[in-house]
Amino acid sequence: MEPVEDVVARLRDQIEPLGITEQVPVLESVGRVLAEPVRAPRNVPFGPLSLFDGYALAGPIGSGERAAVVGKQFAGDPPQRLEPGTAMRIFTGALLPEGADTVIAQESVELDDGQARWLEDLAVGAGVRQTGADTRQGEILLEAGTRITAPMLGLIASTGVAEVAVSRRVRVALLTTGDELLAPGEPFSPGKIYDANGPMLEALLAAAGVEIVQRACLPDDRDEIDARLREAAEADLIITSGGVSVGEADLVRAGVESLGRIDHWRIFLKPGKPLAIGEVLGTPFLGLPGNPVSTFVTYLRFARLAIDRLAGQAEPGAWPSQPLPLVTGREGGDRPEYIRVRVRRVEADGRPGLEPYPDQNSGLLSSLAWADGLALIPPQVRLAAGDTVEFTAFKELGL
Ligand code: AMP
Ligand code: MG
Repeated sequence: MEPVEDVVARLRDQIEPLGITEQVPVLESVGRVLAEPVRAPRNVPFGPLSLFDGYALAGPIGSGERAAVVGKQFAGDPPQRLEPGTAMRIFTGALLPEGADTVIAQESVELDDGQARWLEDLAVGAGVRQTGADTRQGEILLEAGTRITAPMLGLIASTGVAEVAVSRRVRVALLTTGDELLAPGEPFSPGKIYDANGPMLEALLAAAGVEIVQRACLPDDRDEIDARLREAAEADLIITSGGVSVGEADLVRAGVESLGRIDHWRIFLKPGKPLAIGEVLGTPFLGLPGNPVSTFVTYLRFARLAIDRLAGQAEPGAWPSQPLPLVTGREGGDRPEYIRVRVRRVEADGRPGLEPYPDQNSGLLSSLAWADGLALIPPQVRLAAGDTVEFTAFKELGL
């Protein structure tokens, strides 16, 4: 059986970035992956700005000194000139008048018959956000391969850049399979279950900046499965749920094998079986297990990597983790296992610890909805309360 790290490395090798670039307005760039670095075309701020409402001066200034107040400088106005020995009323975000280098807050000034008298000593440059303090002209703000977040979008927008070069959205065909599945809103009948993986994966894919180009809920029928897989091969990546086990009704496996190939990767991980990785008519294929928790975990660990890689992300499928203690003892099984845990304060010392969901069955979506993240329990171990395991927070994965 292959360790997760080897599977991750092989997936990364097998899947090539799409390498198709398009220009998009900055406003639409969140969640997209930069195809080229973003450079700052100008300094931000463009010139020295006042940090607060007060008085602009040419420093240094000693407590008790005074100067006549001549004029007002508002945010958005071009800079006026400050004559030596005078002060100018200035407001937050306004450019300093030429000749001024310091701003004193209005709370530290006494006004008396058009004269300002300041109540504290002030160093030159106080109260000013200097030219280029945020970004410097020509500087690389963000490297190619970065997935753009809202703060990054703000940073790009602040420099006046209106469009960025990103890689085209990854196009995914998403097929859920099973005779038992009902679409949302369909009337219930005995023996059926509502499709949970489809909606869950749609939400995950949307969050990953993916375009879903085909979405179907398929019966366990070979002809239907084969027909849909052929169409799905038009996408950049095919993701299915269910039907890749070894049962009589597990027809996705057979369909993929007839149109392409499945690499039977035996992953040394729970949940990770049955996960099928392969290709359909040359298009990468990931067959996720049907049990919802298994679907979710294998999506996070492997499908996310494939999507990031196709999009040209610099660190595809990044999996940040941190060591945290378990609040109860636990025994490892025959494979490493991701269990659903919540972070809670341990009464005794106030530090965070990991509380496992009481029932770790991979069919239980309630365990996922409850959890803050996944803890990795190594195989063949007997862990006591207080022993440390690696924890990956859903929040850190942007979920
Ligand atoms: P399978 O891998 O097709 O054998 O499915 C394993 C288990 O997951 C079965 O209990 C299925 O009913 C369940 N399952 C499969 N697909 C879904 C789905 N889309 N939503 C919820 N449960 C599913
Ligand atoms: Mg099935």
